[in-house]
Amino acid sequence: MESFIKCGYISHKGMGEADFLIVGAGPSGLAAADSLSKKGYSVILLDQGSSIDHRICKNASVDRSKCTNCQPCNIHSGFGGAGGKSDGKLNLNPYIGKNLLNLIEGNSIEDKEKTAYDYIHKVDQFFIDCGAPIELKSKADDPRAKELAKKARKLGLDYMLIDQKHIGSDKLIQVMKNMYARLQSQTVNIILRKEIADIIFDNGSCLGVVLKDKSEIKAKHVLLGLGRRGEEFLKFLGKKYSLSLLPSPVDIGVRVETLNEVMEDLTSVTYDPKIRCGFWRTFCTNPSGFVVREQGDKFVTVNGHAEANRKSINTNFALLCTIELEKPKSDTYDYAALIAGLCSNAGGKKPLVQTIARFMEPRPHRSTIEEIFRYKGIRPTLTDVTPGNLFKVLTGEIFYGIRDAMEKLEELAPGLCKEHNTLMYAPEIKFNAYLPKLDSCFQSEINNLFFIGDVSGRTGSIVTAAAMGFILADKF
Ligand SMILES: Cc1cc2nc3c(=O)[nH]c(=O)nc-3n(C[C@H](O)[C@H](O)[C@H](O)COP(=O)(O)OP(=O)(O)OC[C@H]3O[C@@H](n4cnc5c(N)ncnc54)[C@H](O)[C@@H]3O)c2cc1C
Repeated sequence: MESFIKCGYISHKGMGEADFLIVGAGPSGLAAADSLSKKGYSVILLDQGSSIDHRICKNASVDRSKCTNCQPCNIHSGFGGAGGKSDGKLNLNPYIGKNLLNLIEGNSIEDKEKTAYDYIHKVDQFFIDCGAPIELKSKADDPRAKELAKKARKLGLDYMLIDQKHIGSDKLIQVMKNMYARLQSQTVNIILRKEIADIIFDNGSCLGVVLKDKSEIKAKHVLLGLGRRGEEFLKFLGKKYSLSLLPSPVDIGVRVETLNEVMEDLTSVTYDPKIRCGFWRTFCTNPSGFVVREQGDKFVTVNGHAEANRKSINTNFALLCTIELEKPKSDTYDYAALIAGLCSNAGGKKPLVQTIARFMEPRPHRSTIEEIFRYKGIRPTLTDVTPGNLFKVLTGEIFYGIRDAMEKLEELAPGLCKEHNTLMYAPEIKFNAYLPKLDSCFQSEINNLFFIGDVSGRTGSIVTAAAMGFILADKF
């Protein structure tokens, strides 16, 4: 097809079985599959995980706080990707989940911003077509949000005004089922429970992929939308095929859990408030939600989510700082891994938790089991944790940065730093520490091999990852 040469790809006519093989059925892969199949290309969409119906976290049936380390993890893998089993918060803003403008060509910021919003609306429409609600949960022009933003500015904080949609975890499952049916009706060949182990490499070009069972799938173009969990695979490809992997900043911090009433003045206006406080920012707020454990290949970290049918009396949010390193230490992945390793070590392979009272002490001491579980006040929603001392495992920059941010946030959410109200869990880390070198069409240094979504290091949310899938499809 003529458009194959739009971006200067090497065409292997007749060689592949499909025009596009997309690995990863997360938002980036789903959007690319939808758009490319609509254009008449033949598309295979492959994922190591299961269909949405079969993505059942064993935690849910036994003890929700104990991870049984399923492979692959049903929370992160399968049709819908990492966000497929979340409560589906869509931030309709190009500056949340990395900066979408960086993926867009244009002459001015205004042009790029306009195009970025066009893609955001396309993502929103994709979800609406598949059953997501049209209504917004929070609006950028809500007078109450503007009032909060004004108050925040006076405190030296930046309270972002954003349009936000909240699909809800039960509805999101139906949305994913509808997406599956839509892609099938557009003749996308969906293959689940197959893991790729390598690419087929020939003379500088990618000709397809090798699966873990040693079988091969050939295609003219291979799109890798492997999500954050694809970081190790990216490292493997980088080493084997000498790809330039540039170190990128890494997000490190804590998960804060407090009582609903402490946060409700904010969350009743903006469901997931995005507040910037110097280098620190709040991220992924879950009213009436649960702190969850994330079992990585090597480390245990924390995250948070909200559920439709089960509510807690707590709100949790991440407080993260983007860390960049200076030479000679520039490998942010190793740096974050060191901190995760320290936490795992101190916590006996469990996340650490400390009361706000201990965390705020001039020279903090570790929290005790009695303080965490038998204290008056807040009860942890994640119970498979080790009471500890975050002062001993986080660097000074991170520890004191969090303390400063918490003190400022207390002004917007009174009670946050009061003795019995809040727990601090560590570590929360967004391991997204390598940027593969990509051209303006997201093609890597290997011909016909493309990276989209979070594994590219260029997106960090459902909306931006899906937008990147659509942007790539428009290059063909
Ligand atoms: C618990 C949780 C809740 C979240 N909630 C939200 C939210 O409410 N709003 C929001 O904007 N963002 C949320 N996020 C983040 C969001 O889900 C991600 O930013 C987004 O899903 C990234 O999309 P992606 O397409 O890049 O990759 P992913 O969604 O991560 O999908 C990658 C897919 O690739 C597959 N894969 C990886 N390696 C292989 C391999 N070797 N072979 C075959 N398949 C492979 C995986 O199985 C996975 O299905 C949440 C994340 C988590 C973990």
